[in-house]
Amino acid sequence: MNIKRNILLNPGPSTTTDTVKMAQVVPDICPREDEFAEMMRQMRKDLVRIVHGDPQKYTSVLFCGSGTLNLDVCVNSLLPEGKKILVINNGAYSSRAVEICEYYGLDHINLQFPIDEQPDLKVVEKTMKENPDIAVVYTTHNETGTGVGNPIREIGAIAHAHDAIFIVDTTSTYAMVPIDIEKDNIDFCMASAQKGLMSMTGLSFVVGNEEIIKKSKDYPKRSYYCNLYLQYEYFEKTGQMHFTPPVQTVYATRQALKEYFAEGEEAKWERHSRVMNAIHEGLKELGFKELIRPEIQIGLVASAVYPDDPNWSFQKVHDYCYERGFTIYPGKVTTTDTFRLCALGAIDVEDIEEFFKVLREALIENNIRVPVQYR
Ligand SMILES: *Cc1c(COP(=O)(O)O)cnc(C)c1O
Repeated sequence: MNIKRNILLNPGPSTTTDTVKMAQVVPDICPREDEFAEMMRQMRKDLVRIVHGDPQKYTSVLFCGSGTLNLDVCVNSLLPEGKKILVINNGAYSSRAVEICEYYGLDHINLQFPIDEQPDLKVVEKTMKENPDIAVVYTTHNETGTGVGNPIREIGAIAHAHDAIFIVDTTSTYAMVPIDIEKDNIDFCMASAQKGLMSMTGLSFVVGNEEIIKKSKDYPKRSYYCNLYLQYEYFEKTGQMHFTPPVQTVYATRQALKEYFAEGEEAKWERHSRVMNAIHEGLKELGFKELIRPEIQIGLVASAVYPDDPNWSFQKVHDYCYERGFTIYPGKVTTTDTFRLCALGAIDVEDIEEFFKVLREALIENNIRVPVQYR
């Protein structure tokens, strides 16, 4: 079968291999069969292994849904009665966790920092000291809207020093940036299959401390479908998801995991890094400015600032590239107009070189000056 290869430079879903695409085509199966449960049993172990978790201490719980489901699950399930959650917020994804707190009416602190800066750890420390009722600290590893990487190990250390648990949204770093759950002071992290794992959409998972999940059995139940303990308990009892799993995505993810371990953590991160470097180079050659200074970028997202050119049109440039198999994506910054190029997926430097040829053509075709101009 010949499947057109598109290069997705959006922040997920990512470009997949043909072998992962084809792994979805399987004989029909009822997911309540042992054969299917066995596949998920192995997958749960593999997902812990990716972040080097001790299998005696950490477990993973699978859900059917997009990545935001994990944010919802962790926030609503892991806050004890009468306690507070601290959200360290320097971007759109941590803001999403704040919105979840608001929807559930959870006692929370929205500790905001500029979206183009890392959080100030002194302020975090001070907030912890002033609020001894904080039981959960939450942040995002890679604020995918900008590409700012947050110092999770340091934040986790502060959380633990104040007896709080630490939840990190690693949706856009898991299986890309090497993570060590224990050394990075993480109690819970998460991702969905279509990002770092380069699989299909519809499968998400939380990796975390099993003792804390067991403890959360007695925490207030704020959701039915999205309760962490309930799903965990069902997995432990039956090996299955409580409700219907995304069957074909589970098959694709089994294949993606095989390919992940074959490529290897270090080699994969190296590949993403050289893709990112090629993106930085290409942007620079065309004269684009980046919004985030290099020292605080995670190394997976470039936020390019819109040029000051009367003919600039993101939509027109996007459409030109899209028609030629390359997808670019708008930024998630309210103060500055940006577009994003991301280094996720089964792509390499040659794909980026091809892309920049097309992007240059797109600019010229639309009478946008090259190199692009800023006032
Ligand atoms: C992609 C992403 C999510 C999940 O988004 P969905 O649209 O629900 O898949 C959550 N957090 C971060 C940091 C992400 O990059």
